[in-house]
Amino acid sequence: LVHRMQGYGSTIFAEMTALAVEHDALNLGQGFPDTDGPQEILDAAKAAIDGGRNQYPPGAGEPELLDAIATHQKRFYGLEVDARSQVLVTVGATEAIAATILALCETGDEVVTFEPYYDSYAASIALAGAVRRTSVLRFPDFAVDEDSLRAAFSARTRLVLLNTPHNPTGKVFTRAELELICELAREFDAWVVTDEVYEHLVFDGLEHVPVATLPGMAERTLTISSAGKTFSTTGWKVGWVSGPAQAVAAVRTVKQFLTYVASGPFQPAVALGLGLGDDVYAGLSRSMEGKRDLLVSALRGIGLDVSVPGGTYFVVADAAPLGATDALEFCRELPARAGVAGVPVSVFHDDVDAARTLVRFAFCKRDDVLRDAAARLAALR
Ligand code: PMP
Ligand code: GLN
Repeated sequence: LVHRMQGYGSTIFAEMTALAVEHDALNLGQGFPDTDGPQEILDAAKAAIDGGRNQYPPGAGEPELLDAIATHQKRFYGLEVDARSQVLVTVGATEAIAATILALCETGDEVVTFEPYYDSYAASIALAGAVRRTSVLRFPDFAVDEDSLRAAFSARTRLVLLNTPHNPTGKVFTRAELELICELAREFDAWVVTDEVYEHLVFDGLEHVPVATLPGMAERTLTISSAGKTFSTTGWKVGWVSGPAQAVAAVRTVKQFLTYVASGPFQPAVALGLGLGDDVYAGLSRSMEGKRDLLVSALRGIGLDVSVPGGTYFVVADAAPLGATDALEFCRELPARAGVAGVPVSVFHDDVDAARTLVRFAFCKRDDVLRDAAARLAALR
């Protein structure tokens, strides 16, 4: 394995899911729903296969999906995006992130991001030979710290990589926080790459603010999303990136040689999904909010400090009362000890002390599974 990928052996999600399977544990580790998304979308994928749409789709994506993404950006956020030149379909958000960083960063360029960070950010930055500069979001409120954020910028900053709503914390960045980030991006003439895969999973009437909607930001922002989270189809791996035409063209150049195109039959199905009514979107987030409430109150019931997530399908809890002193060790033992899997937040940190005993639990699971998991954790006390 090349030097720049040393230390990226196996993702924590694969490790924890393997342990969950081995011990027949309830998997609140890896973030994937245990119930599929809207039936119309599933039927549309089957129809696409039966209808013979099984060969290479166009490189940028199926035109109907490109149109649907552009329409979605207009419908929800008032953003004007040209479907032909400003949108690229990718193999999940993961490829969009990697291809974007590879397209924009020269060796030694710096990428500013927050920690805890989604694991593929660190790996993609490393693949590009770029350098990660982070600002810590601290439990339990995970607020942006202006001084440390400013200190992460330098003359070598090429881009800021942010994620709202944020995995693993569930934090929804406030408008003021985003304005601060954008102000720094402008000051240091950096791109903003914003991972908004949880854009439709926002609770408590909070507002998801797409970075590209902030004044003057559309011209320096690349926005990434994915059908996996919105439609509970994480295995389909249909994602996309949109932004200024020249930057999207650069990402397309890289994407061509990573995967060439994304899977064909899922693209018309996702196009159909993006056009579904407001009631469908509201229903998905309402259902997830109910699950959030269920797991948060259950974890509090067993005496854990919890950061109540404003979005995503993850909740971070301090597992110290359950005997955790090192979250990674604790999570490696948890499936065998309790029949539950979680993910240690420390693995998403450079400053592991910021998350010594913090565990992320996914609540995108059936209510009975969440109740059962809480009961199993309670038995550890
Ligand atoms: N970004 C974040 C913040 C995520 O949580 C995920 C999925 N877990 C991804 C990107 C990857 O999305 P996809 O499965 O569409 O590649
Ligand atoms: N994004 C999901 C999570 O955060 C899992 C994705 C993966 O397994 N790479 O749990």
